[in-house]
Amino acid sequence: MKREDFANGAAMKRILVAGGAGFLGSHLCELLVGQGHHVTCVDNLATGSLRNVKALTGSNRFVILKQDICDPLPEGFMVDEIYNLACAASPPHYQADPVGTMMTCVVGTNNLLALAERCDARFLQASTSEVYGDPEQHPQREDYWGHVNPTGPRACYDEGKRAAETLCFDYLRAGRADVRVVRIFNTYGPRMRPDDGRIISNLVCQALSGEPLTIYGTGEQTRSFCYVSDLVRGLVQMMGAKDNPGGPVNFGNPGEFTINELAELVLKITGSTSELTLHPLPVDDPQRRRPDISRARELFGWQPEIPLVEGLRPTIDWFAGETRKGGRAVPSGAHLARETAGRLPEPVAAQRH
Ligand code: NAD
Ligand code: UDP
Repeated sequence: MKREDFANGAAMKRILVAGGAGFLGSHLCELLVGQGHHVTCVDNLATGSLRNVKALTGSNRFVILKQDICDPLPEGFMVDEIYNLACAASPPHYQADPVGTMMTCVVGTNNLLALAERCDARFLQASTSEVYGDPEQHPQREDYWGHVNPTGPRACYDEGKRAAETLCFDYLRAGRADVRVVRIFNTYGPRMRPDDGRIISNLVCQALSGEPLTIYGTGEQTRSFCYVSDLVRGLVQMMGAKDNPGGPVNFGNPGEFTINELAELVLKITGSTSELTLHPLPVDDPQRRRPDISRARELFGWQPEIPLVEGLRPTIDWFAGETRKGGRAVPSGAHLARETAGRLPEPVAAQRH
């Protein structure tokens, strides 16, 4: 099959999605297969699951290759586009194997970039708001260089992703591949793992099971939450744009919430009477996070459509199904990375809202 083949009136492409069995990757694969493309999902299933792509396995336009992107891809493999989403994204998961996280970002990304060069394929790198670290500028624009601790427990991810961006822009500058970099801000939705350890999965699972909601620090730190369908739509738009943006582009929902506000919202929607408990703030936890999405708006006319209160409902329904199957929230953060599911550090204070 060639690039010129057509399905449903649109150009059919051979697309590789690295990390396609993960949370974001599986939604992306679904969208691409739905558009008529041939998708190969390359995933080592470290944090992803075949369940996430089960519905796609019936399609003759979807293939799964179980492999680590740090290993060379099969020779003769040809693709038109590569999305690199392979990398654990939740702090407890990426900190559980910090060297593996760094290698995935650097060696794995380099392998995929080399494949893009060989195939003359377009390449999209899933970078992250974590490249801004604990930001001193607010909201975060793409020209901000960030404030990252290079030796702390989050560094394997933050610096790994920064190094991956460096590789991407070196390939682009050298004319070796058409490389695009998206900086994704906190994204949530169905198919997040209950044991993911991130804020939405933890709070929702705790609220649903009547356990105390775990608030790290004062809960006054902020995040901006983007619903998954908004995000993957943006990824496809950026990959499809005729002109290369030439620099990174932020994708996220600019609505900014404190963790306490999020907890209240989760309690309200679930109708849970769970209490809030305060726990130590993980090392290097960023205090404020909100994307400036002017670039994505100007370049692609992209902006999120689903507000948090709306996106939380299907997300809660998803977790309700998962918790019925026995899924549990786990602690997050550097000092908690090796804790086992359900074991939390001692609360430092407790409050009822
Ligand atoms: P996820 O953990 O659900 O998905 C990552 C996928 O990559 C999993 O299926 C995992 O098995 C696979 N993977 C990990 N290491 C691999 C390797 N070495 N070789 C092959 N496969 C490997 O996480 P997610 O939330 O879906 O995030 C996807 C991507 O988006 C990540 O690169 C992450 O850094 C980025 N991102 C996500 C968010 C978010 O809020 N979800 C925010 C910023 C950036
Ligand atoms: N957080 C929290 N309770 C939890 C999990 C996370 O208060 O059970 C906090 C965490 O300290 C951080 C914010 O919520 O300030 C978002 O954490 P997450 O792990 O979701 O993502 P990231 O820190 O990578 O943005």
